Parts: sequence; structure tokens; C-alpha cells
Amino acid sequence: MNPAQQRRILVTSALPYANGPIHLGHLVEYIQTDIWVRFQRMRGHEVYYVCADDAHGTPIMLRADAEGISPQALIERVGVEHQRDFASFGVSFDNYYTTHCEENRVLSEYIYSQVRDKGHTRTGKVAQAYDAVKGMFLPDRYVKGTCPICKTPDQYGDACENCSGTYAPTDLIDPLSVVSGTPPEIRESTNIFVKLGDFEPMLRAWVRDGGGARVQPAIANKLDEWFKAGLQDWDISRDEPYFGFAIPDAPGKYFYVWVDAPIGYMASFRNLCDRTAGLEFDDFWAVSSTAEVYHFIGKDIAYFHTLFWPALLHGAGFRMPTAVNCHGFLTVDGTKMSKSRGTFIMAATYKEYLEPEYLRYYFAYKLGNGIDDLDLNLDDFAARVNSDLVGKLVNIAARCDRFISRAFDGRLADSLPQPELYQAFVDAGEEIAALYEGREFAKVCRRVMQLADRANQYIDEHKPWVMAKDAEQAAQVQPVCTLGLNLFRVLMVYLKPVLPALAERVEQFFASGALIWNSAHTPLLGCRINRFERLLNRIDKKAVAAMVQASKEPEQPAPAAAEPVADEPVAAELGTAEPAPQWEPLQPTIGYDTFAKVDLRVAQVMAAHRVEGADKLLSLKLDLGFEERTVLAGIKSAYDPATLSGRKVVVVANLAARKMRFGTSEGMVLAAGPGEADIWLLDIDDGAVPGLRIR
Ligand SMILES: [Zn+2]
Repeated sequence: MNPAQQRRILVTSALPYANGPIHLGHLVEYIQTDIWVRFQRMRGHEVYYVCADDAHGTPIMLRADAEGISPQALIERVGVEHQRDFASFGVSFDNYYTTHCEENRVLSEYIYSQVRDKGHTRTGKVAQAYDAVKGMFLPDRYVKGTCPICKTPDQYGDACENCSGTYAPTDLIDPLSVVSGTPPEIRESTNIFVKLGDFEPMLRAWVRDGGGARVQPAIANKLDEWFKAGLQDWDISRDEPYFGFAIPDAPGKYFYVWVDAPIGYMASFRNLCDRTAGLEFDDFWAVSSTAEVYHFIGKDIAYFHTLFWPALLHGAGFRMPTAVNCHGFLTVDGTKMSKSRGTFIMAATYKEYLEPEYLRYYFAYKLGNGIDDLDLNLDDFAARVNSDLVGKLVNIAARCDRFISRAFDGRLADSLPQPELYQAFVDAGEEIAALYEGREFAKVCRRVMQLADRANQYIDEHKPWVMAKDAEQAAQVQPVCTLGLNLFRVLMVYLKPVLPALAERVEQFFASGALIWNSAHTPLLGCRINRFERLLNRIDKKAVAAMVQASKEPEQPAPAAAEPVADEPVAAELGTAEPAPQWEPLQPTIGYDTFAKVDLRVAQVMAAHRVEGADKLLSLKLDLGFEERTVLAGIKSAYDPATLSGRKVVVVANLAARKMRFGTSEGMVLAAGPGEADIWLLDIDDGAVPGLRIR
């Protein structure tokens, strides 16, 4: 890359709190950030993605207390678990650290003293909630009561989940201590405040100068509301006992966790710089920096990241963020994640049952650049992944590779038969890149799937499996499949930020090095590729159901690993000699009424599996529109089950169910041909939907 075009980018995700495990709700953010980071890396930019555990505050102190261990022991254990979970979902941090570190203490003290020395702090007496039973001042989140603004009950003491209003815990109506369940006393303490109002002109200018790119429109509107309401002074101190950093000039006082948590972004980066030759902290954080700094956060912490955080940075003489990108919350099957419904799913539980790539794709498929909530619909999740990734994307490779590996010794042709089709795929690259840059991942997925449809259509038009059996056309099989595989490779370039593990398997398959964005520009020709291995299995809905079940009973011992979720593709044999057609004699003539008794329907193959122990059968799961059926079909010798999902077939729908040795067949799929490799399933033109009657 031309050095003038190379951007220097620092990216963060919000710091997960170190008192509990990572769940799928967290992963929306880390997967979203990771996709964007991986995209920027593939484009050749200098990118650093840092994060840390948010390790301070009363909840950690109380949790450690309850477990009978020190806060340090708790945060160390949780830190290890967090890093394991992030790694298993392919979240590619350059540094993962903790806010409970020397770098953060030094930076927090420095930033505080700068802000104080410039006159932006004051002290003031505050009436605070005090739990006399526990002997401690109560953090905001340990007092619950009714929101003083919108009157919603059961709200935390710092902010309302309903109206997003912020207030002091003492403002709550009918407050209770969460620690002891008793009404808190009000005690006075002298606290330290940052005069946030001092920064209002600067904050307004920061938002305005970004030309609409600093925050999303919905957040900009929120900021306007907050500005109009007037910025309140921010209480940054907490009384002991507190797990955190002591405030240097205020004995018995600690920095509120929300002071040193965002500073933890800098501390993690500082730690990375100290370990990386040539990487300079000031290049990214000095006011004169030309590097870009992006924070990805949930919309619930926008107040902290768009007001407090830029104010602290500015007050201490650092640069401010390039942008703060907010996302919505995760719902599962249309509602809040719920432990009783088994939809409060931990990352580690998901990983036992399903491949992380599935979730990365589904989240990407649902993520735009707004702050709307994202719904994980578990049925749609399985159907979408199976249809897009297995039925469309991987299918392209499965349909072409077997010919290249069997008949051409793994060698690709020297030229492409339709270079203009390949060029059209390459030309889509900049449009897709612009969508990634703008965090429009759903649109990326849709655009790539349109291209996948086009690639499958090309293969359908040329039918290499037919060409291979025709001596005059057999020579065309290699170039046709070479183009098919190259189209697949371009699509994998475009999806690599979303599907890094699949991309790695594809890279091994093509044996031409790591895919970068510009890999799409040059097709692979005349070289050898490795034999196709299983790239991705279909999602078995049973595995999804088992994961939900396991999430209902978190206290039970970990269940055994899920059953294998799909069959490996079975390549059909090539080159069997064409037998001379033997015309079967016609059956006796029947009247229309007799024909009309046969109820033929359009069906779509949802899944196809080999049947254990059966030489000839494939088990087809069919969608008949009005119901689902399992049909055992003697087509194994001619069809690779991996190529069947998504295709339409014709079914005798009113044939009595037949009990066979390997199970019950609920109908019959129509096909022509004498058997072995010569079996051809009936197809139907595009537009016909499952369930339509055939007359
Ligand atoms: Zn409210």
C-alpha cells in the first residue's frame, strides 16, 4: 500500500466487567468491532485493537467477598475466562489487559491532576446512600427504586433503563439497598466533582467538527437533549471501602470506576506500546495525532463515552476520539435474554454446541450502523446460516472442486472462460469495502449472497457434471470449474472479516497464502490446489435446542459435546461409462381421474444426509410448505448430499408412508434414470414455491 494512503487506527470495544462470564449479548459488540478491525487490516492499514477487563468497583469487591477470595484473585480468574471466550469467537485483540494495572493508575492520576490543576474540579458535600447494616456507602447500582423522571419502578440509582435519564441514587423514589435489602440511610460525605459544564462548548464543537461522523444521528439527538438539559457536575470520588485507585490528594477517597475504566483503553495501549518496538503512545494520543481512534460501545453507555470521556481527554491535554460507534442490545427470539427460557446463553455454552462462525455471520447479517436492537431468532439463525453459508457459499466450492481434484489432478485451468464475469465480482469489491467502512455489515452479507447466487447460476448453466460425461465437452469442465472456484475465492475475500476461521480453511484449500483485500484482483490460474476438505457443516436444529436446554440449567455439570451436526460431502464418482438407454415399455393407459389421485407437490430440500449403514439411501428433510417431511431416496450413488440443500424437488405427497429398514419414508422424490450415477432428480423452474401442487 502507498504509505500516504495507509491509515493508523486504534480501535477499542467497551471493557467487560470482571465479575461474570461473557454471554451472547456481549458478543454483539466484540464481533461487530472485530469484523471492522479485520476489514481494516485486510485493506493494509496499521490497526491496533485493544481491550481490557474493567476490574474495579464495589460489585467486584462484594463478589470476591461472597466467594471468600481477594478481588485480585477474582479478576485474575475472570480475566482468563474472558480471554478464552473471546479467542474462541475469533475476536482478534492486539492487547487484552486489565484496568487494575500500574499503567492505568499512573494515567488516571495524571489525567485527574491535569483536570484539577486547570480548575475543572470542585469539592462538595453530598448526601449519599449508606447501608448501615453493611457499613458502607452504596454505589449507584446498589440502590434501586423508582425513576424520579419517568416513574418507572425498579431502576438503578445512576440511570434509568426506560428513559435513559441520569440522576443520583438519593433522587430515587422508595430506594432500597441491594446489599442488605434495607432502606439506605442518607449520610453526608465530601466528594470531588468534575465541572462538566466547563467542557460544553468544546464537546459541542467536537461533535460538530466531526461532520456527522463522530456519533450516529440518534446519539447526536441525545447529546442535544443532554446539552439542553444542562450538564451536571460529575461526582468522580467514592468512599472506602472501595476496590480501585486511591485519589492522591484525598485520603479515604477512590476514583469512581467510570473514571479509570475508559482510561483503561489508553492503559492497554500503553502496555502494547511498551512491548512493541516502534509503536509510540503519543502518535495516537497527543493532540497533534493524525491517527484515528474509534470506540465501539453499547448505546447504554453513550453518556460516559460522548461526554465524560472526551471531557477528561481534553481537560488533560489529550486528543479526543475520532468517533464513538454505538450499537443496540441483543434480544433472543424477540425478547430480552432470559435464564428461564434458556436464552441467556453464555459464550462458553454456545461454543460447546455450535461453531462460532455461525454466530459471527448471523450477527453480521443483522448489523447495520444504527443503534437498533438486534434479534437472534434461533430458527431464522439456523435457516439463514444453512441457506447462505452452506447452501450458497460453500456449495460453489463443493460443486466445482470434485471435478478439479478427480479429473485434473487438482490443477486449475490456465485461463478463465468468462473473464467478464470474474471482473464483475472484482468490481463489486469497492462497493463492499465502502459498506464495511460504514459498518453496514448486513448490506455486505446481502451483496455477497447476490454474487453467490450468480456464481451458482453460472455453474447451473454449464453443468460440469453433464459435461464430464460428454467426450466433446469434457475439456470444458476444467475452465468452468476453475472460474467457479475463483468466484468462490473472491467471495471468501469479501467475507473473511466476518468468517476468519472459514477463510483460514479456504486459504489452505487454495494453498496460495493469506487472503488480503487485493487477492480478489488476480485469479488463481494454472496452479494446483489442495483437495477439498469439509469447510462448514450445516446447523442441526437439535444442537440449537440442546444449547437452549443447557442454558436453562447452568448449575448442572457441563453436558457432553453435541452430536456431529452434519455429514461430510460425498463426492459422486466420475467417468462411469454411459450405458445405452433401454427404453422401458409404456404402462397401460389411464384416465385423468386416475392421474389426479396422485398428489404431486413442489418441495425444497432443507437438509440431506447419508443414512448410516445404507448403501443407496440419502435421507432428505423436505419443506412441503405446509409441513416438513423426511423422505428416504435411493439417490446416494448420484448425489452428493452437500449439493442438495436448497434445491427444489418433486414429491409424491400422498404416497402412504413406508417403513423401511433404515426408517420411515414419508413420500417419494421423483427422479429419472436407471440407477447408479445415472439418476436425475426432477427440477422445477424458478418461482415455484414449496407446497404447490403439480398437475
Ligand atoms: Zn426513567
